[in-house]
Parts: sequence; structure tokens; C-alpha cells
Amino acid sequence: MRTIIEPFRVKVVEPIRLTSPEEREAALVEAGYNLFKLHSRDVIIDLLTDSGTSAMSAEQWAAIMRGDESYAGSPSFDRFEESVRDIFGFKHIIPTHQGRAAERILFSTLCHKGHVVPNNTHFDTTRANLEYVGAEAVDIPCAEGHVLAEHHPFKGNMDLEALEALIVRHGAGRIPLVMITITNNSGGGQPVSMANVRAVKAICAKHDIPLYIDACRFAENAWFIRAREPGYSDRSVKSIAQELFALADGCTMSAKKDGLANIGGFLCTNDDVLARQEKDLLILTEGFPTYGGLAGRDLDAIAVGLQEALHEDYLAYRAASTAYLGDHISKAGVPIVQPPGGHAIYVDAATMLPHIPRLEYPAQALSVELYREAGIRTVEIGSVMFARHDPITGAELPAPNELVRLAIPRRAYSQSHIDYVIEAMLEVFERRESIRGFRIVEQAPFLRHFSARFEHC
Ligand SMILES: *Cc1c(COP(=O)(O)O)cnc(C)c1O
Repeated sequence: MRTIIEPFRVKVVEPIRLTSPEEREAALVEAGYNLFKLHSRDVIIDLLTDSGTSAMSAEQWAAIMRGDESYAGSPSFDRFEESVRDIFGFKHIIPTHQGRAAERILFSTLCHKGHVVPNNTHFDTTRANLEYVGAEAVDIPCAEGHVLAEHHPFKGNMDLEALEALIVRHGAGRIPLVMITITNNSGGGQPVSMANVRAVKAICAKHDIPLYIDACRFAENAWFIRAREPGYSDRSVKSIAQELFALADGCTMSAKKDGLANIGGFLCTNDDVLARQEKDLLILTEGFPTYGGLAGRDLDAIAVGLQEALHEDYLAYRAASTAYLGDHISKAGVPIVQPPGGHAIYVDAATMLPHIPRLEYPAQALSVELYREAGIRTVEIGSVMFARHDPITGAELPAPNELVRLAIPRRAYSQSHIDYVIEAMLEVFERRESIRGFRIVEQAPFLRHFSARFEHC
């Protein structure tokens, strides 16, 4: 059979409330045209994020019931540790309540003012946590990653020459670690090749700099390596993930992504001294090192979820369903970041809506239009989120790209839900010339995208 089906059937349902166009218009006005401010009950298909929105399996719910809530020495931690060690292989495994808590603990221990940390592309919490401790976060994606419409199997790769140059320029002493994000979320959910990670590791080893992996979508990345990188087609996805992590000295992880859990994360390292310091800090803010801010049942759900995320029928469905959305809208002319990534489709709103000036926020306009058309919530990744200000004049400078991200929650929506999204996108595409931009009428001094209010131009 060539048809790829959802490799699960439904056991519990969560009703979706269907809304009328009038209700949606009223909800938009009340939210000041900011989709973060909508009530989720007013959303029909929620593609805001793939983080923490996975449907858990029957085995994960069973694991939740097995969760042991003892303060110390819980068997839930043992099962969690065993599952993480099986895949990730690191010596020390420290649970945290989310990925960003792992980042904060790692960077507070290892980084300080004057340090520089390169990454293929820093996720926003990674960048913010580095800047908080006074370090500089530098993005060095490969050249192919910059061209949205260009196909390349591993657009998430790091630019190796830029890494060498950066180390020479600053000196290895100022670079406490190199990070590589798999898949490259901010860079369009694009995968990183094994060859690239191996080459990054070789450069790090030459300069005696530890390599850490931001591992949130490790299973999707391993799947793409098997599908696209020569020499890996016969390998199990798990063995590919193990090979990847064997190249690194540690990792940070959000279990809300490829942990298939609704909360959780962890920090791993092979460094005994560092692990000691990290656990001391963990006790201060997250909790004892065998629970790290999580309930025992969360640890059990993650232990199962990490293994399920590597099931090959699940990953085949996951990649096929994301590509299904991307291929259908792009065939009809909607410009997207190519090729489709693992967890999301990114629509290039600047190309789709050339009549809207960048500072009238074309990606915001498109995301509002998808909600207006069909109650679909997406997220703007453009100038509302990432505009900078001219240091001299204070004038707002647009972000390099105007993207709308359609993130696909894991195991949550069926193909007919995605067909509905495709239809809505094509309807909006048909009437794209009549779509108007926005001006901001109220905004916070930072992270304005969460709370800004807008008016149509
Ligand atoms: C989500 C994410 C994080 C942060 O994880 P949280 O659990 O949201 O704190 C870090 N890096 C990447 C690449 C992510 O996608």
C-alpha cells in the first residue's frame, strides 16, 4: 500500500467548537487582532505551536498512573533516566520543567559576560538566556538556509567556515560551548545532517570546545537523516539518534516536542564537575535532581514518549502529513519555505502579499486572514516578532523575513483537518490582493508580539 495513514485510532475525543464568521470577527476585534490573545475555545484548528500540544498515547496515560510521587528516589526517575540514557547516552541526566530551564542552568554554569556562543540558529529562549548572562548569541546557518524557496536536503546545517572564522576571531577561550539545534526550528524546521554534526564536532575538538545539541526535535531530525543522507537508509532511526548524540558532550531538551509530553525537559552532560554545579543550581530553583520541577507521572510520560517518537511508522506519518500540507498549498502557488520541514510549514507572506509594506506586517495580515476565513490560528514570525530599531534614529527596521508558521501538533489532527487548512489557505490566496496590512496601536517594550494590539491600515 502506498497510502500513509495515521498509525493510531481515536480513543478519547476533544470536541472542537465550530464558530461563525461573525463570531470570529468579534473575537478578532476583542483580541486587538493579536492571535495570542484569542481564547482557545474560539479557535477551530490550532497551529500556533507544536510545543506541549501532542496527543499522548494509551501507554503514556498508563505510565501516568504508574507515576510515583515520592520526593526522592522515585522509580519514575529511574524509568525516565533509563529511557533518556538509552537514546541520548550521556553520563548525567538532569530533569527540568521545560527546555528553557535546562538552558538557563547550563548557561548560568558555563557562560558569562564576554563569552560568545555560536549555533546554527538560536531558538528565542536560547538566545534570551545567553543574553541574560551577558554572553553573545551568534547564528551561523549554512548559506542554503538563507534562500527560502530553494530546495536542499539539510538546510538546517551550520556554516563550518563561519564557525572556524568565529573561533579564530574571538579565540577559543571566549567560546565556552558550541550549540547545534536539531532540527533548526527558527530556520524553518530544517534538518541537520550527520556529516555536518560530525564536522562541527571535529572543529570543536580541535579547539577543545564542548559541543551541545539543542535536541528538541531529535527524532524528526534522525528521520530526515535516514531519508536523505547517503549511508543511512538501512539504519534504525534510534541508532541514528544514538550516533548523533555520541558526537556531543551534552544536550538541552524540551520534552514538549519530540518527548510527546505536555510538559518537561532535561539537561545532559558528560562532565562530572559541571553536572555537580548544575545539580546545585537545580535544587535552588527547579527541585531535587530526581524530579527537577516535574511530577513523577510527568517523568513516566516522557520516558514512554521519547521511545514512541522514534517509532518509524509514527515518523513516516509525521513527515508525510507535514509535507502533505506544504505540497498542496505550494502546488497551488502559495510560496513556502522549501522543502517542508518536520514540524511546521512556513508561508512566505512577503512574497505572497507584495502590496503590503514590511512595516504594515504582511505575515500578521496573513495570519489574521487565516483565522478570519476558517478559525485557524497560526503564528507570525516576521517584523512584529523580530523588528529591530535603528540605534541612531530609533526608526523601526523590518525583520529579514515575513513568515507565517503553521505548526502541526503531534498526533492531534487528522488528514481531513489538514484538508480544511489547505482549503482555507487557498481561499485566502485567491483573494490575496484585497488583504490589508496593520498598524500597531499598543505595544510592550519587549516581546511585543505577545500583547500588542493592532488596527487595519
Ligand atoms: C521549544 C524549544 C526550546 C525551549 O523549550 P521550552 O520547553 O519551550 O522551554 C528550545 N529550543 C528549541 C529549538 C525549541 O524548539
